[in-house]
Amino acid sequence: MDRDSGTGAPHAVPRRRLLTTNLMSDKEHRAAYLALADSGELRDRAQRAHDMLADCNVCARYCRVNRLGGELGACRTGKDAVISSYGPHFGEEAPLVGAHGSGTIFLTNCNLKCIFCQNYDISHEGHGTVATPQALAAMMLSLQEQGCHNINFVSPSHQAPQILAALVVASAQGLRVPLVYNTGGYDSAETLALLDGIFDIYMPDCKYAENETAQKLSGVPDYWDRNREAVREMHRQVGDLKVDGRGIAYRGLLVRHLVLPDGLSGTRQVTEFLASLSKDTYVNVMAQYRPCYTAAGVPEINRRVTAQEYERAVQLAQEAGLRRLDERWRSL
Ligand code: SF4
Repeated sequence: MDRDSGTGAPHAVPRRRLLTTNLMSDKEHRAAYLALADSGELRDRAQRAHDMLADCNVCARYCRVNRLGGELGACRTGKDAVISSYGPHFGEEAPLVGAHGSGTIFLTNCNLKCIFCQNYDISHEGHGTVATPQALAAMMLSLQEQGCHNINFVSPSHQAPQILAALVVASAQGLRVPLVYNTGGYDSAETLALLDGIFDIYMPDCKYAENETAQKLSGVPDYWDRNREAVREMHRQVGDLKVDGRGIAYRGLLVRHLVLPDGLSGTRQVTEFLASLSKDTYVNVMAQYRPCYTAAGVPEINRRVTAQEYERAVQLAQEAGLRRLDERWRSL
């Protein structure tokens, strides 16, 4: 999981797109979930997602444990939401940040077990606090009140039902900004079907192009297969990334691809896949890798990527035909 695209860059000097001129009313881009809230469908979706916890297929691990009955699966998360922190964040991609920040909510635990995770205290060690739907809704409303352009759920895959329960409350209390699903990209088809028409912006990782690498580095056997299915479905739901007159995203797909040492992230295959969805897929090819958590124990990834490795990854993305690459790391 790459919870923060804006910190820890080894060599980069961020370059921000100017977000000015031609201000556009938010009313022109009504968040998708509001229609489902108005019709009552949102409450039904939340109930169906809640029911999934009894035989958990919430993410692509399909643990089939009864989280409502106290059992825990690989994510070590029960029936309640668990939150590590929340607040306006200015380190995300420019289309999410705008002038007032992206309203990030960091969810505790993770359905992936990446041995290089830079937020391992949250994802592996479980630092966080249980939150009721009302409490999580209050966080969302607070972020909106602070002017954030969106609510950005970081690592939501294993807590999608809890998010929907809180969204029922928050939308009834005035939430209006779009939602961002900031995921490691190992999501189940069943959950994504329930999210259709709720999340306006999907921001998945595409971490690897080989299942064997994913097994070794993230502890799941079929990442490449499930990830492609998930990202294809996300793109079907929301299409290419769209921004308003201020340059702020209001709908669409934004993909993160973290370049790993030794070509382990499979950039050629990943970018060719993304280009097959659309040449206008917005992709952040990221240079920020550094060996965190237990990565020092794996010689291939016990170093940062070189400038040459990163430039080669960007070149591969361009050769695949992708024409909307995030500019952030391009100053290596
Ligand atoms: S959310 Fe995923 S990892 Fe967690 S129990 Fe359910 S299937 Fe397992």
